[in-house]
Amino acid sequence: MPEPLHAVAVVDDQAAIERAHRAGQDAWWVYLAEVLGHLRLPYQSISPGAPPDGVSVLVFPTTPDTAPSAELEQWVRDGGVLLVVGDPGPLSALAGVTASGSVPDAHVVLGDTPVWSSRPPVALHAVGGTRLTGEAEVLARWDDDDTAAITLHRVDAGAVLTYGVDVWQSIVRIQQGYAVTADGTPAADGTAPIDDDILKCEDGMVLSFERDRAMPPGEPPLDPEFQHVYPPPSAVPMFDQPQADWWCSLFAQSVWWAAEQSGATVPWLWYWPSGIDAVAHMSHDSDQNVEADGRAALDAFAEAGVEVTWCHVFPGGYSPELYAEITAAGHENALHYNAMGDADLAVWGWPQVRAQYAWAQAVTGTEQIVSNKNHYTRWEGWTEFYRWCERLGIQIDESRGPSKQGDVGFTFGASHVSFPLAPVAEGNRLYDVLNLPLHTQDLAWAGHASVRDVILDGAQAVHGVAHFLFHGPHLNLRPPTRAACLEVAAEARRRGMPWWTATRINSWERSRRGVSLSIEPHPDGVAVRALADEAVPGAAVLLAVPNSGTEPVVKEGSGSARTVTRFGRCFVELTSDIVAGDNRWVVTP
Ligand SMILES: [Zn+2]
Repeated sequence: MPEPLHAVAVVDDQAAIERAHRAGQDAWWVYLAEVLGHLRLPYQSISPGAPPDGVSVLVFPTTPDTAPSAELEQWVRDGGVLLVVGDPGPLSALAGVTASGSVPDAHVVLGDTPVWSSRPPVALHAVGGTRLTGEAEVLARWDDDDTAAITLHRVDAGAVLTYGVDVWQSIVRIQQGYAVTADGTPAADGTAPIDDDILKCEDGMVLSFERDRAMPPGEPPLDPEFQHVYPPPSAVPMFDQPQADWWCSLFAQSVWWAAEQSGATVPWLWYWPSGIDAVAHMSHDSDQNVEADGRAALDAFAEAGVEVTWCHVFPGGYSPELYAEITAAGHENALHYNAMGDADLAVWGWPQVRAQYAWAQAVTGTEQIVSNKNHYTRWEGWTEFYRWCERLGIQIDESRGPSKQGDVGFTFGASHVSFPLAPVAEGNRLYDVLNLPLHTQDLAWAGHASVRDVILDGAQAVHGVAHFLFHGPHLNLRPPTRAACLEVAAEARRRGMPWWTATRINSWERSRRGVSLSIEPHPDGVAVRALADEAVPGAAVLLAVPNSGTEPVVKEGSGSARTVTRFGRCFVELTSDIVAGDNRWVVTP
């Protein structure tokens, strides 16, 4: 079967990647494959200089080497839309802007324009980029000096949209931080004393205590004499926005806008089963392995009606009976890797994590342990832990989150799962381990109760996962935390967010990643195809098509269609049980 001709094409400049790697620099733009891969938004790769035949939207994920051909310029004039990320370089004349100074780390304010159908309510943190000057319309500004950060230049029937923001570096850095080699700088207000002589995820984080946090709505201002004690005496500022998810969403919004401008139809695959807006996830860490605490947790989760991801910590353990009850209750047996130095084998290292994995298999009777969370959000280096996960068969890791009251929330800017980027030494490949962010530890103990709805709101705004962690000792001994566990379970359900274990999130994401979508014109509208490695029941294919004003109809194939609004934009949603292999529908939008 011939390769389908997708409306979106991405310039694949292998020479530029090799050049960056030889110079020891990250080719951040390879992360485009992960951002569009999560959306399942199909595109064709074309080599630099190749004519954009049959293409409506062309993406330069980084600065091109050579001046645009006369053909490319004509293609824009005829209605094509170019998206350029980085210094537009030789495309400057076409883009209507030139680069005028690099920006290592700053904030970007998104303007009011039809390109952004859904804007974040705060300035977004950006890592890397360039200031833009020229004639083009300004879609976003650097907030330190009001220069242009993202621009739009109309060229006859077409347009060039230029991201001075390095969206790829920003997304990866916000999600993965910098290598952890020393304690980070604590928050000036005393709410996040991360200088605790314990290396952990937050020590490498990119989001700023001073710029990227806000008080939960309705809470009084922070007491200048605030003391970091448990439970917190008051609400404290939190990372209230999934900033990396917002960057992914904004890039997607610009692709959908570009497709609309050029009259193309672009499909993508909804993140969850049709009808589900966002998902909730509850995990439990078995710290101290006290039998009574484990039983109290089992009891609380039964009353809450939630199947949790139960992360088992070495050393010690529960009785064999309790492990059996945890499994029988439908909870997921996971590893809680301990590198706190409080026991033999409880140190940071491959032999130690391997030994603890084998221990968790043995005590739980679970041959395949799929997920892990690191005790105390321990972390060292940048990504070596993901290599260990790959070797062990851990497919999803949920370590990256807060250990202090003042770094609760979207500490790593994400509510979506993602495959992390490897460093230059590993060719900037993607690890085969999903990163599932953690948002707060025990409500009404490690996190003030007021953070709950901010986390749920943030996850819903970008349609990701809200992750709440509880510990047995607090469920056992602290009635407010036990009550908060039941309340968050009910509140997520009230919002239509089902509770999924890490294994379920992992299986769902990996099955949807096996779906390749394509579109062909059809006399009755569009023919939609999905090639799937495995079945994806209840899938929702979203089609960015001009609004016809009538209800969409499925003419061929089994499924139903309706018009929905996602990220402030209208889509035709095709709901169907995707089967393994070839799936085809004809939809009249
Ligand atoms: Zn722990």
